[in-house]
Amino acid sequence: MSREFRTGIGYDSHRLELDRRLVLGGIEIPFPKGLAGHSDGDIILHALTDALLGAAGLGDIGQHFPPSDDQWRGAASTLFLEHARKLLEANSYQIVNVDVAVVIEKPKILPYRDRIRQHIAKTLGIDMERVGLKAKTAEGLGPVGAGEAAEAHAVATIAR
Ligand code: MG
Repeated sequence: MSREFRTGIGYDSHRLELDRRLVLGGIEIPFPKGLAGHSDGDIILHALTDALLGAAGLGDIGQHFPPSDDQWRGAASTLFLEHARKLLEANSYQIVNVDVAVVIEKPKILPYRDRIRQHIAKTLGIDMERVGLKAKTAEGLGPVGAGEAAEAHAVATIAR
């Protein structure tokens, strides 16, 4: 029996605002600004959740966790990723690998990269070498370059 492989893409962007916690990939990073949003604003986990749901054809994060629903106010986005994992498991999918590019001017993400990869790997129940993470800046261009926003792009490959 041959295996079926599927790929999904996810993208997210949030504004960076003063006096919010900066949570990226489930890890809190000390910085004067954090990502605005209904939940903790974790763009990495939002993009990743969408990539996984998309690969399986199971909708998107807004459908499963509507911003209009008050139960997700300030929610840890790890919950969203856990939910995607459970949905995939219920549909007999295994996660082959995920890869993320985060675009943020400041702070430097490199010192946190392996902790973030570890958190994602643990949440998804996969080895850390199956989790890629790159951090880029926008070279000063646009709202991301001005430090007013940050964005994340993710892909996921699943199989069953
Ligand atoms: Mg989001």
